[in-house]
Amino acid sequence: MTDHRPNRRPSAETRAAQALRMIDPQTGAVVPGIEPATTFARDADYEPRQSYIYARDGGPTVERAQALIASLEEAEETLLFASGMAALVALIETVPAGAHVVAPRIMYHGGLNWLVRQQEKGRLRVSFFDQADPDDLARQIEPGATDLVWIETPTNPNWDVTDIRAAAEAAHAAGARLAADCTAAPPCTTRALDLGADYAFHSATKYLGGHSDLTAGVISCRAVDARWEELVTVRNLSGSVIAAFEAWLLIRGIRTLYVRFRQASENALAFARHFEAHPEVEAVLYPGLESHPGHAIARAQMTGGFGGMLSLMVHGSADRAKDVARFCTCFFPATSLGGVESLIEHRKAVEGPNSVVPDRLLRLSIGIEDVADLIADMEQALDRSA
Ligand SMILES: *Cc1c(COP(=O)(O)O)cnc(C)c1O
Repeated sequence: MTDHRPNRRPSAETRAAQALRMIDPQTGAVVPGIEPATTFARDADYEPRQSYIYARDGGPTVERAQALIASLEEAEETLLFASGMAALVALIETVPAGAHVVAPRIMYHGGLNWLVRQQEKGRLRVSFFDQADPDDLARQIEPGATDLVWIETPTNPNWDVTDIRAAAEAAHAAGARLAADCTAAPPCTTRALDLGADYAFHSATKYLGGHSDLTAGVISCRAVDARWEELVTVRNLSGSVIAAFEAWLLIRGIRTLYVRFRQASENALAFARHFEAHPEVEAVLYPGLESHPGHAIARAQMTGGFGGMLSLMVHGSADRAKDVARFCTCFFPATSLGGVESLIEHRKAVEGPNSVVPDRLLRLSIGIEDVADLIADMEQALDRSA
């Protein structure tokens, strides 16, 4: 039943749109300000006036952005980093030397490359699970030895869906922690901590920022503990904190997260349905389609829409797939995802020769434009490349 009491807590959508109602006490400004200072004067007793000392620890603008994301994730605390990769590297740095990590075989290539590098340097042992097989994750966990399980859902660029609750149960039963990269499923649709993850991770460069004009990474925790304090220390010592201006832009972006994500999800579903039975398209990979193997889990854990990320497998050669990407005039031929503008990329060309992504796969980030323009653009590109 809808709660209409006057003192009810505003919903997450309202908290996002109003950026937690951070009214400036001096001016009444309804938009949170930006504090660019790197250093903060002490008081007459030589004590910090508030908690701020030096900007590499974070500062008022960074803390405001963190508080907003923590509120949307229902997290105890949130930390922002200069990029998604900076956040991932910091979290992996907290894994004890020689410990075991489990990660998906297909995942964001930067994260994968970092894990392989740690393994090659002898710092960690890593086992990769088949993210398309619901039972493989549990098989790769070594009770007592596995320290961290990393999942990504939906997984880039096949959009396989991993059951966060089941992954958390498997990790916890073995004494490991679960980190969920939900970059393609921001908190307006999936709250990983509620589903049992210990850490909710996002490249905030994508949906949270939403305008392809900032890089940021974020990790939120279900409970603050010694390991979380270690992550705070790593961010400080490695100097990987987000800058104040980026944090401010991120707050601005998050205010429209819900409407952007709803529109992108609606567009992507219409686009996926249009091309699902198209003669020039072998397959449309989109968790919102009933034909997608992860659809049932996606329905259960993506409650605010399936998002704007989908991939097309075109009939023909790798060159034809590249031609389709080149011939699009409404989609931008560019990497990244989660912005208001639609992007198309030939993923294998971007990831390089070691990539396991099929060479006829085109990854699309559907934005908030008129979907009729996007469908018409893909139709003409498929025609022209035939
Ligand atoms: C982009 C991305 C990252 C890395 O984030 P950056 O902000 O580019 O460093 C990590 N995971 C996923 C799923 C991503 O799409």
